[in-house]
Amino acid sequence: MTEPDSGSRLSQTYAGACHCGRVRFEVTTDLVRASECNCSICRKKGYLHHMVAPEGFRLLSGADDLETYRFGTRTARHQFCRHCGVACFYRPRADPRKFMVNVRCVDGVDLDRLRIEKFDGRSWELRPDAPYTGIWKD
Ligand SMILES: [Zn+2]
Repeated sequence: MTEPDSGSRLSQTYAGACHCGRVRFEVTTDLVRASECNCSICRKKGYLHHMVAPEGFRLLSGADDLETYRFGTRTARHQFCRHCGVACFYRPRADPRKFMVNVRCVDGVDLDRLRIEKFDGRSWELRPDAPYTGIWKD
């Protein structure tokens, strides 16, 4: 996968929010694909991942409503709305500067039209020394 590119001519700006609406954000990205990961937390949360660079992400409201869950190496920051529990995005272990957006929280996206790619995060987690060659990066 190519690096997130907020300047791509295919990029669009999408709005997203948690369930209760306190956490609101915008992402500017070329949203044609998302990934599904089988690691311990993604499997349970059901994220549909789409990575955006910091400049492609804007938190519009809800900074004070976000709670952060960390585990394992404590590198990833799994943020969620402390009122409704919905996780709109998190800061991935592979690159915590970036935003891994949960496409399920992005408005107006037909999830059935996305190219969903499987990522074997479970194996990656067992080998933290392994090079990160998942589909989120080339
Ligand atoms: Zn909420």
